[in-house]
Amino acid sequence: MWSQRSFVDYSLQRRATLSALFQGGALTTDVCDADPYLLRAAKFHGEPTEATCPVCRKEKLTHVTYVFGDELGPYSGRIKATKELEPMAREHGEFRVYVVEVCQGCAWNYLTVSYVLGDGVPRTSGRRARRAAEE
Ligand SMILES: [Zn+2]
Repeated sequence: MWSQRSFVDYSLQRRATLSALFQGGALTTDVCDADPYLLRAAKFHGEPTEATCPVCRKEKLTHVTYVFGDELGPYSGRIKATKELEPMAREHGEFRVYVVEVCQGCAWNYLTVSYVLGDGVPRTSGRRARRAAEE
């Protein structure tokens, strides 16, 4: 299996956000603000979980996984399935993964974890490699 680096767990912030919500310190509209794009992404590209939405307690949460990195070029910011990450980690030196949980019922959304994947060997972009060869 691949190794995850620079792992960040946002569960403490998530819990604080939820307790603020339940204590009246935040409005549902502040936290249940998934935009139509994210809701559509959850519907078509999301991965179902067994966790129930902490806000509406009706729907199961869906995970949407984004990848970001300079090496990814136009693929930076795309949604990936979890099973696509391991081959990607072998092909790239470094990119960051963000996992967002989304409720398709009430539009609750929260970044749950992020981490870095890749084999640690920086890749030269195709354009830069060509330019170096011409010089
Ligand atoms: Zn919900």
